[in-house]
This record gives sequence, C-alpha cells and structure tokens, in this order.
Amino acid sequence: MTELADSPPAQEQTVKPINHWIGGSAVRGESGRSGPVYNPARGEQTGVVDFASVEEVGRAVAAAKAAFPAWRATPLSKRADIFFRIRKLLDERRDDLARLLTAEHGKVLSDAHGEVARGIEVVEFCCGIPHLLKGGMSEQASTGIDVYSIRQPLGVVAGITPFNFPAMVPMWMWAPALACGNTFVLKPSEKDPSASMLTAEILKEAGIPDGVFNVVHGDKVAVDEILEHPDIAAVSFVGSTPIARYIYETGTKAGKRVQALGGAKNHMIVLPDADIEMAADAAVSAAYGSAGERCMAVSQVVAVGGVGDSLVAAIKERLPRIKVGNGLDEGVEMGPLVTREHRDKVAGYVEGAAEQGATIVADGRETAPQGDGFFLGVTLLDDVTPDMDAYKDEIFGPVLGVTRVDTYAEAVKLINDNPYGNGTAIFTRDGGVARQFQFEVEAGMVGVNVPIPVPVAYYSFGGWKASLFGDTHIYGPEGINFYTRGKVVTSRWPDPATSKVDLGFPQTH
Ligand code: NAD
Repeated sequence: MTELADSPPAQEQTVKPINHWIGGSAVRGESGRSGPVYNPARGEQTGVVDFASVEEVGRAVAAAKAAFPAWRATPLSKRADIFFRIRKLLDERRDDLARLLTAEHGKVLSDAHGEVARGIEVVEFCCGIPHLLKGGMSEQASTGIDVYSIRQPLGVVAGITPFNFPAMVPMWMWAPALACGNTFVLKPSEKDPSASMLTAEILKEAGIPDGVFNVVHGDKVAVDEILEHPDIAAVSFVGSTPIARYIYETGTKAGKRVQALGGAKNHMIVLPDADIEMAADAAVSAAYGSAGERCMAVSQVVAVGGVGDSLVAAIKERLPRIKVGNGLDEGVEMGPLVTREHRDKVAGYVEGAAEQGATIVADGRETAPQGDGFFLGVTLLDDVTPDMDAYKDEIFGPVLGVTRVDTYAEAVKLINDNPYGNGTAIFTRDGGVARQFQFEVEAGMVGVNVPIPVPVAYYSFGGWKASLFGDTHIYGPEGINFYTRGKVVTSRWPDPATSKVDLGFPQTH
C-alpha cells in the first residue's frame, strides 16, 4: 500500500489505492467516495484515496477509544522506549518517506529529506516524555498538607493536516499526543496521503499498540465528523486561515480543546546596512524553496531606505540558477506546484499584479518547464503596494514581492497592520534595531538575519493574529500542555504519631 516513489515509467503507471488505517491495519474504504492523488511533476494520477464516511470516522474513533485505557496506563519508561524505536525506524526509512513526499507533493528530494529531519526532531523531543510530564510539588503547604500537580492525557485526540508538509506536520501532532498517553485519529490532506500510511506502518513496527494511531482520509465529511464526535477531546489543525477559523469555532462549540494554525504572509525587512548578498540568498531560498508552498515562506520583502535597487538586482541575478523540474532529478532546486488548479491560481496572481501596477522583474509563467507537470517558474515582482491582491493574499507559490519604503518604522507598520502574523525576519547589522524589532513586531516567530525562523523542537511553533486560532502553539512545551490536562492533588495523611504500629517515636495513644 505504501509503495515507494521510484515509480515505473508513465506508460506502466498504475493507480494505487490508498486506504484508511484503523485499529492497527489498512482498511479499505466503503463510502464509495474517493479522490485522485497526482504526481505533480508528471501531471498524472498515481493514486486514488478513500474518503471516509461518518461511520468510518466513528470506527476509527472507537478503535482509539478502546485503546486508550491500556495506552494511558503504559509506563512512561515503556512509552519512551517505543519512541526511541520510532525514532530509529524513521531514521532508517528517511529516504522512503522523502520519496513519497516528492512523488505526491512535488518538493525536491533534498527538501523532502529536510522535512523528514525536522519531523524527527519532534519525535526526539518526545523521547524525553518521562521528564516532560514531571509535575510540581509543594511539601508542607499547610501543616501536614502536601500539594502536587500532575498532567494527564485527554483521551482520543485528532489531527487535521495540510498538503504542504505531509510527514512533518502530522509529526508535530501525533508525536506529543501519543507520548502524553493519548490515542490519535489523523485526517491528512487528501492531496498527498501516502506518507501517513507509511507512518502508520512504522509506528506499528515500533510497538505502538493497535488502535493507538489511526488514519482516516477524506474531505469535509470526515473533518465535520471529527469536529462533532463526542469521544474526541481535542483537535489540532494546520491549514489555511478560513478553514482554521471554521475548525476552531466548530470544535470549541462542540466542547473540544482546539489549536488551529492558519495561513501566512511573511515579510522580510531588509535595512540599508544589511549584508545584501546574505539577504538576497536568504530571500531566494525562503521565497522559492518548496515552490513557495510553505507557511513560513517569505512572500514579501520590504526594502528600506534605498536598498531596493541593489537588493532586487542581487535577487534577480540569482534566479536563472534555480533549476525547476522533477524533484527526483539531480540538480533540480524547485519542483512543481501541488495541483494544476493551484498552479493556475498562482499564475493568476502574477497576471493580476501586472495589471494592478507591479513591475514584473521575472515572470515564472515564461520559464516554466514544458510538459504535463504542474510547473511554474520563479516570479519576482517589484513595486508591490499593499492595495494589490498579490500583497493582500497568501499566494502560496513561487512569487516574491518587493515593497519599497523609506523607513524602518514604515516597514514594521506594514507587518503589524497585516492580518497574518506567522513568521517575519529582519536583515541588518544593527543589534539594537534587531532587538527593537523583536520587541514590537506582531508575529509569533521572528528571525534576525534568519529568513525562516521555524523554532527548534524544544520551543513551540505558532503565529499570531489570523495565523493561529486558540491559545496554544504546536509541539515543544506548549504541545505537551495542549495534549494534557492538569490535576492538582492536596493530600494529608494521618499523623504518624497516631499509628497503631510502633514506629519508634513517641505515640500519642
Ligand atoms: P486547507 O485549509 O485547504 O486544508 C487543510 C486541511 O483541511 C486538509 O486536511 C483538508 O482536507 C481540510 N479541509 C479543506 N477544506 C475543508 C473544508 N471546507 N471543511 C473542512 N475541512 C477542510 O490547506 P492546504 O491547502 O492543505 O494547506 C495550505 C495552507 O496551510 C496554507 O494556507 C498554509 O499557510 C497553511 N499552513 C499553515 C501552517 C502553520 O503552521 N501555520 C503550516 C503549514 C501550512
């Protein structure tokens, strides 16, 4: 079922079925509904994924519910041991996972390996679960009274994930959730679902008991049932802002704990004193890596105080070196977009930007490789203003806009006025300005001469404003908090002096 991506030539290509994973094994869908899965570099269908019915989601939840008591009671040392094994197996199967990502998402193989590596870091963090779940204790809070806190799992929790990180984003969720003692139902993106199935096999091989980790594929039908199901205690979501808002509102209305991470429009400020070569390298890799289909991609450069000409020239000079093609081919640095529709939508923004007055420095529509793949070349837009659609919307493609402003204060105002607040970065040699930026910018993740400041696994990931609904960031310490609830015990024991057993010290009876 998780056949790997070293695919046969096009003429021998078969369409593989991709099933659910319930109670420890693959289960064929019975809803009669399914969706196509494509190899975006070749532009052809390679898979057909089952779409779950309400009843099938119910079966996955029932399996997770049945598995919860034993998993919850599994000692921390044993859970940690299983997590070390998961880590080992993921490490051994890095290339298999990465090839699945390239085959269905389109990102280049080196980038797919990077995704798997960042996901594994979250698993490594979770290997320390005995330490992470330690509570606090106050001895003698009052005479003879001790108070201590413990954190306990929630029960069955669910994750709903986007297409752009089909292995890593699920790991942000299932790893801390399972380590904390919860059982899990994952609804991955229907666009690239195979990585979740290989993950399920790896977890089983590592010793995760049947029913602890389940996968249901599908669309709004499955998602809505997850949001309504009374036996699901919490929902983690990563995806676009409109759906994140919907998930948060619907899930919390049904009484669930919800963290819903949304879309982004990440600005990178370049000050006149910045190292221009460093900033140009950073802008190019952060804007066009993974074809711009990253929630932390830089989509807008803000050039301050006359740095625009040299910066745009330095970025432009680098663009012809970005080889676009099939992510499995040697030397290719940027793959296709995930679907034909998405490619066309992104191209529409380039068209619209030109009509609305932006200067097209490089036009990706003209440099896309020929063939059936969902390709677009890299686009660089100069003189982008905040009223343009290319500025206002999350394009989620290989399109970088440059906005020119006179001062640092204007640049910060642009970011703080933006409805999104995921990541941002400043390029400067001035530590004082960088510190001021960190203090006043309204975004959840800030880079100083670092264009994509994704927090390491022992911090937590999350944006502000329309980039996150809920109050808990994902993975790291906040992930542990999200997947557990606190309990505080206040205890008093009878005075040992009253014991009927001779304890060797003065008795009061
Ligand atoms: P999406 O919102 O279209 O889909 C995400 C998930 O929601 C998928 O599992 C999908 O099946 C489901 N879904 C889609 N439409 C739905 C509906 N009407 N009702 C219920 N469920 C629905 O997002 P996508 O296109 O897969 O991913 C790209 C988006 O994700 C971008 O906006 C990107 O910024 C965002 N993203 C955010 C982060 C973050 O950490 N903030 C990380 C990765 C991606």
